[in-house]
Amino acid sequence: MATTAQPDATELETVEHAFDEAATTLDLSPDVRERLDLPERELIAQVPVRMDDGRVEVFTAYRVQHSNARGPYKGGFRYHPKVDLDGVRALAATMTWKTALTELPFGGAKGGVNVDPKGLSSSERQAVTRGLMGPLECVLGPMKDIMAPDMGSGPPEMAWMMDEWSRLRGYAPAIVTGKPVVLGGTEGRVEATGYGVALITRSIVHELGWDMEGLRVAVQGFGNVGSHAAHSLSRMGCKVVGVSDVNSAYVNDSGLDVGELVRRARSGIIGHEGMDLEEASNDELLTLDCDVLIPAALGMVLHAGNADDVKASLVVEAANSPTTPGADAIFEERGIRVLPDVLANAGGVIVSYLEWIQNTQNVQWSRRQVDDELEERMRSAFEAACFRAHHDGCTLRQAAYRLAVERVVEAVGLRGHP
Ligand code: NAD
Repeated sequence: MATTAQPDATELETVEHAFDEAATTLDLSPDVRERLDLPERELIAQVPVRMDDGRVEVFTAYRVQHSNARGPYKGGFRYHPKVDLDGVRALAATMTWKTALTELPFGGAKGGVNVDPKGLSSSERQAVTRGLMGPLECVLGPMKDIMAPDMGSGPPEMAWMMDEWSRLRGYAPAIVTGKPVVLGGTEGRVEATGYGVALITRSIVHELGWDMEGLRVAVQGFGNVGSHAAHSLSRMGCKVVGVSDVNSAYVNDSGLDVGELVRRARSGIIGHEGMDLEEASNDELLTLDCDVLIPAALGMVLHAGNADDVKASLVVEAANSPTTPGADAIFEERGIRVLPDVLANAGGVIVSYLEWIQNTQNVQWSRRQVDDELEERMRSAFEAACFRAHHDGCTLRQAAYRLAVERVVEAVGLRGHP
């Protein structure tokens, strides 16, 4: 039975733990280590917004730029009531390691605004989005820092950000990625993170000599990433036995009708009348009898208090930092493999890069072109991490971090920073 015990580490401690392990193994000098441990710049802004009823509410927004050693800062922008500085610092550092691991010419950044987007009307979300571009403008730019969607944000927010930037500085679609296609977005970006999760799951399944057909999968979080991952995996032959959202989990031991769940979620239909499923709690979803567990919502959901109850043999981290160091150690001891976030959910930033290329060159790629490039880049990062894990006799997370940290350290050295 799962417990609801508190996580044994914060998101920031989790990311720092992975970095520390790599820094120690690579024997980094104290100055380089300190430099990469701390973000290069942090911006905190208070954003006053006139609400529909005439009141003015003030929202706190953050942008943390962790490293631009390998290229412009790149990272999403989250709209969530739990957004805080430490959480954004963790996410910004994760982006540095993710872009390095996937060999994209970007650094790492992340941002967020402390707000519950579900409590806002569309005009209020637009006002918040335009309002935060004012204070953030000075640190952004198509060759400086490029934002993208994250939890609670999507193409509409990116469209408003792009339009507000254009109003302030002139038309530049490359200022954000994840835009609607008609505004310079790319085919395949909305699906990219979830599809990438499915591709990488298939890669490790083949590596382990398992079969995708009938593989039992549970997905926590049925938003952008979780729903596309579940849909792609069911198309690849997997049996999705459980999914959840913030309210509840929905399970069926014989497999859920994922296509219908996706259709209802996208049409805003509440309830699952007529569908063959049972309701369960989010804790039960995490400990469901399955082969593959995919956390695709918040961080820190797998911790020392529930890792012993996880029944899956493989955890694929679609969310950022869903596994604490305590849970990681338990999984290793129990022989449960973990595909780390920097690898598993990199499809989003890879296709963001492809969108940025199209914007900067003023060209439009086909869906086939985007998907082929995504598949090739995910495969290449997966093979590099597997090779390193095999060579060093370490976990995939340790291998991914060692590769990423090495590449950033090399860039810092070659640029000749003091
Ligand atoms: P989203 O807002 O589209 O969806 C989030 C989902 O999580 C929703 O179904 C929501 O109901 C559910 N959820 C929220 N709180 C929950 C809780 N306490 N328990 C269970 N479910 C809960 O967000 P998203 O874009 O799908 O992002 C999900 C995760 O993937 C985040 O960790 C994000 O950082 C990561 N990620 C997203 C992208 C991207 O391209 N959107 C890229 C890389 C990583």
